[in-house]
Amino acid sequence: MKITEVHIYQKDLPVQGGSYKMAKAEVFALDSTILKLVTDTGLTGYGETCPIGPVYAPMHALGARAALAEMAPYLLGENPLLIDKVRRTMDESLNGHNYAKAAIDIALWDLAGKHYGARVCDLLGGAMRERVPSYYATGVNEPKRTAEIVKEKIAEGYPRLQVKVGGRTLEEDIETIRLVGEVLKPGIRLAIDGNRGWTSRDLIFISQQCAEIKFVLEQPCNTLDEILAVRSVLRHPVYLDENTEDLHAVLRAIQTGVCDGFGLKVTRLGGLSTMRTVRDLCHLKSMPHTCDDSWGGDIIAAACLHIGATVDPKLSEGVWLAEPYIEGNYDSKNGIKIKNGWIDVPSQVGLGITPDEGVFGDAVASFA
Ligand SMILES: [Mg+2]
Repeated sequence: MKITEVHIYQKDLPVQGGSYKMAKAEVFALDSTILKLVTDTGLTGYGETCPIGPVYAPMHALGARAALAEMAPYLLGENPLLIDKVRRTMDESLNGHNYAKAAIDIALWDLAGKHYGARVCDLLGGAMRERVPSYYATGVNEPKRTAEIVKEKIAEGYPRLQVKVGGRTLEEDIETIRLVGEVLKPGIRLAIDGNRGWTSRDLIFISQQCAEIKFVLEQPCNTLDEILAVRSVLRHPVYLDENTEDLHAVLRAIQTGVCDGFGLKVTRLGGLSTMRTVRDLCHLKSMPHTCDDSWGGDIIAAACLHIGATVDPKLSEGVWLAEPYIEGNYDSKNGIKIKNGWIDVPSQVGLGITPDEGVFGDAVASFA
């Protein structure tokens, strides 16, 4: 099999309700990039990458499309079934830019699944279950409103909640955590996500003042070193998210003992191939983690779901999807949806979805 065409599409995904707020960024619409690989067999594979605006992480939508255009000519003629070999071709044609390479990597896995007649989750090692837990992430809201959302989402069936904090006074964050603590039910897990917004000083205050409430602190400070400096006096486990920019960062985090788990993003790490490696490292070290992405539509959602289904349920912190926050699906029939806080793993081969290309409009760049 050979790759004969590469097409790049752009799609805006407006946020329902107007905007989504985090400690250091507010987004109104997500600019997603979709990649299609066409082969000489007629099989096609889809990938996607969708940074949450240009501030959340060192990546942005225009960068993704420029990087894909840089690599696309080198993909033509490659055998997409030789995934690691194609990944080397990507690395030899462009240094870095894991988030763009991720779109290609996801499309390669989709193609492999279609070729072998298998689901991506089964090629990645095998689905451990056919329904995967999701979690709901509140934006930064007024404290009472956040507690109301958490209560509603627990009633809906979500087994885990993530509450965004930061970018305001410590008192507001502490009030939010305490009000959320009051509506938590036994067995429901909670992450408090600072999105790099707290100083080490804030982190000490908050963890100590909310010591009686059970939660994990996700990416509280900007850097791994800031967290490491105060780690020993914290009263809560720490998960890293934004700091795990690549496999080196994950390895360093594990080696330094700075965290107890991870919020992982498929595209930030470079795609499903890298996520599989990180999943196995986490299994080796008994470290819980999520399988998420920043935002994006059905293609990203399917990729997160397939790798998420392969994680040992004891270590799975769920699969976050943008689906509840955006309008519509790329695949109107088999689009990935959360039902009562859980997501069914698709039964179809590959990623298990067939995007309606009319949704993407004309390609912004094509290579053949
Ligand atoms: Mg996070």
